[in-house]
Amino acid sequence: MSGLLTASSIGFYSKQKARVLVVDRNTPEEPGKKTNNGWICGDAASKKSVQFIETNIGLKYDYPELEHPVKGIYVYSPDHKTKVLFEGEGYTLNRRLFPRKQVKDAKGFGVEFKFGATAERLTAQDGYIRGIEGRDKDGNPFKISAKMVVDASGSSSVLRKFNPIDSYIEREIDMDDMEATGRYLLEFDQAVEDETYFTPEYCIIHLDQDIAPAGYAWVFPKGNKKVNIGLGVSKSGLDRRNKRLGLNDNLSTLIDKYVKDNPCMKNGRLSNDPNDVGNTKGNWQVPVRRHNDSMVANGLALVGDAAWLPRPLDAGGIGPSMYASVILGKTVAHALEANDVSQEGLWPYSHEYMLTHGYQMASFEVLRRYLQTVTNEQIDFGMKHFLTAEDINMIRDRKHPRFNAIQMLNPVLLMRVASQMDLAKGLRYTADKSQALVDLNLQYPESPNGFPEWKKKMDTEMDETKKRLIPKGAAA
Ligand SMILES: Cc1cc2nc3c(=O)[nH]c(=O)nc-3n(C[C@H](O)[C@H](O)[C@H](O)COP(=O)(O)OP(=O)(O)OC[C@H]3O[C@@H](n4cnc5c(N)ncnc54)[C@H](O)[C@@H]3O)c2cc1C
Repeated sequence: MSGLLTASSIGFYSKQKARVLVVDRNTPEEPGKKTNNGWICGDAASKKSVQFIETNIGLKYDYPELEHPVKGIYVYSPDHKTKVLFEGEGYTLNRRLFPRKQVKDAKGFGVEFKFGATAERLTAQDGYIRGIEGRDKDGNPFKISAKMVVDASGSSSVLRKFNPIDSYIEREIDMDDMEATGRYLLEFDQAVEDETYFTPEYCIIHLDQDIAPAGYAWVFPKGNKKVNIGLGVSKSGLDRRNKRLGLNDNLSTLIDKYVKDNPCMKNGRLSNDPNDVGNTKGNWQVPVRRHNDSMVANGLALVGDAAWLPRPLDAGGIGPSMYASVILGKTVAHALEANDVSQEGLWPYSHEYMLTHGYQMASFEVLRRYLQTVTNEQIDFGMKHFLTAEDINMIRDRKHPRFNAIQMLNPVLLMRVASQMDLAKGLRYTADKSQALVDLNLQYPESPNGFPEWKKKMDTEMDETKKRLIPKGAAA
């Protein structure tokens, strides 16, 4: 997804002067497929992010790649008694068809393709990335040289991991910041009506430490009787939950149970839609930390899951990828024109993305860490009593809530705060820390020269947060 969009964006901004080659390990019939099990995703994307592409580079999307419109995403407390609208209008995409449309669009910008080719390593010369080497579908080695490389190879990127040049890009992710996720595309007969479990109009997210420990579960409509249903967990969160409940669940058993317990769905069966062939069932991984603090190096840029772009709270990576890919395409086109693909020449991408979209991500990382420290009962209480209308508006706009209710000198609220002092203190800490991180991100350096100093401050903030927010049941 993000590689194809970046390619189109380079084509657009360079007025097709740049020569762009997309290397995809899939066949031309199955572009963008993540794993053998398909285009594993929850499929939800905001209208705003889809429109961003049209506004900036003129590419339009419609049915069938925008499979089903939704009015927003509701996040439910574990007891289903409180819901918060998390996002405005959007769609559930058909992830199998979306990249096909993207390939067509990219070809319209003169982009070339090499399918069935797996990139194995970046190649370097004189401190610059200058190409890739890999193997074709028959196992024959190939080498491609280029002025620069964009790594859009997703969450399991080996290119980033074995990046051969010194740079500010972090190569490895802490495995606890990688969420194991899985989902089914199911058709079903409606049993009962209960809009806390299914409605064709809204995506639904369930927060629940027993059902989706240190993660969340979702029921995203793809029609009146069709859903994308699944959940994501952190491995250590699942281990702690199993220990706490004396159970031995894994990701698949959790998902199967979640599907079975949905009272709205009877006779659930894998989607029979020809547009879902090879894409009805599967597990994959999503990064849920802030994006890589630097996304560029000499001759190299990262985008999409390879750059850890998904929002740490809900693993939503499509919107961030759309924003970042368009911005990256613009930066690359300018850098090529200026004949400067150095870290400095590509820096405007890291900088613009951070200032326009990425600045909230570290604060969402903190909120995710905080949620791992609380029980279902505390989430129920906090969502019911501590979220103000202002917080809810901020959440809808994908900003971090301020939890100002906790500060109010109103006797009823004071009593509530007193009855849940740990929760109130934790929320306050999280809100304050989040604000500090937003402020720091808004001071992201305009050139790489300022990066070491900025990075030191970011690492100090995050280390302190990790020490303070120890998940429930974990050794301190
Ligand atoms: C279960 C699940 C649910 C999710 N739900 C949502 C959601 O509802 N909303 C949302 O916004 N986000 C969601 N996400 C995240 C979203 O799917 C990703 O953020 C998004 O797909 C990232 O796109 P990408 O192009 O960066 O990577 P990918 O979609 O992973 O694409 C990477 C491409 O690179 C190819 N590739 C990989 N390695 C190589 C190689 N070495 N050589 C050549 N080609 C290679 C792959 O085959 C693939 O075609 C979910 C993720 C999962 C796993």
